[in-house]
Amino acid sequence: LVAGVARSISRHTTKEARFMEFCGGHTVAILKSGIRQLLPPTLKLTSGPGCPVCVTDNADLDKAIALARLPNVILASFGDMLRVPGSSSSLQEARAAGSDVRIVYSPLDALALARNNPEKPVIFLAIGFETTAPGVAASVLQAKQEGLENYYILSLHKLCPPVIKVLLDSGEVNLQGLICPGHVSAIIGSKPWQFIARDYSIPCVVSGFEPLDILQCVDMLAQQVAKGESRVEIAYRRSVTPEGNLTAIKVMEQVFQPAPARWRGVGKVADSGLLLKPEFKHFDAELNFEFDPGPTKYQKGCICGDILRGVKTPHQCTLFRRVCTPLSPVGPCMVSSEGSCAAYYRYGGNDD
Ligand code: SF4
Repeated sequence: LVAGVARSISRHTTKEARFMEFCGGHTVAILKSGIRQLLPPTLKLTSGPGCPVCVTDNADLDKAIALARLPNVILASFGDMLRVPGSSSSLQEARAAGSDVRIVYSPLDALALARNNPEKPVIFLAIGFETTAPGVAASVLQAKQEGLENYYILSLHKLCPPVIKVLLDSGEVNLQGLICPGHVSAIIGSKPWQFIARDYSIPCVVSGFEPLDILQCVDMLAQQVAKGESRVEIAYRRSVTPEGNLTAIKVMEQVFQPAPARWRGVGKVADSGLLLKPEFKHFDAELNFEFDPGPTKYQKGCICGDILRGVKTPHQCTLFRRVCTPLSPVGPCMVSSEGSCAAYYRYGGNDD
């Protein structure tokens, strides 16, 4: 089956083309399964900014570290975030120095921490795209319903369509197709990608995460390119509809409103973040604690920002493999399980 789809891609690739996979999960699946080696040499895949850990800017990470250092506070975070270096420290180092930093697997775990420790403020470090935001919103509604007064969130959520628009407007990457993120699209649907096909004439196909899903997606993109078309299609129909998950969207919109957000390597992007609505501001850690994140600094020599914009590959970083490894990561793209540098390190990857 794989060989058949690969042959179909070769047949449909009639000119040079470059497709970007937005999602870090796709980057890992592509490198792990050797999909790049199955493609004709004229068809290239480029990794995009879709790794929530990687795009969290040092300035925002510093806020989480400063909050974790406050006395009596419990800071709850997904495990990947602990090792990500901020400007001068990390959550892991804060924990080693005595801060109460706990690893959780969902916002409901953080909510349980708040329930079980009523005398302590519990701050959940809320990162992730549209995929995770509805769960965090639900945890805020649950906290409100239970009358929990010690549950807070630091919202570093990001919305994907606005940052893709910024990348395309920058003209830094010349793309002929976009592999749209499957998990994000399961929530928001495929319709929010229509502006890319319409305004930029770039074909878009939503993909799942199995190697065959991705190959099918690449074949559908290649067919559109060959025919000179640009439409939004779904190659992940078992999870994604054009409208998305209306219940999840409703919960997200009930609790959050769009706000500017900082993306590593990209900068501030309007309406690409999520802020708690005024009626939920007593859950907002930024508004309810005094803390000093200190000056923002970036890791010298680390080119994570360029890699996230798709203009460089990990091989172009002089620290890759020599200084920066999964055991001793310099930047977030080597820490995160969905980071390009970690994926290149584990599975190899060329500079195409
Ligand atoms: Fe940053 Fe390390 Fe990747 Fe280089 S290899 S870009 S230092 S994470």
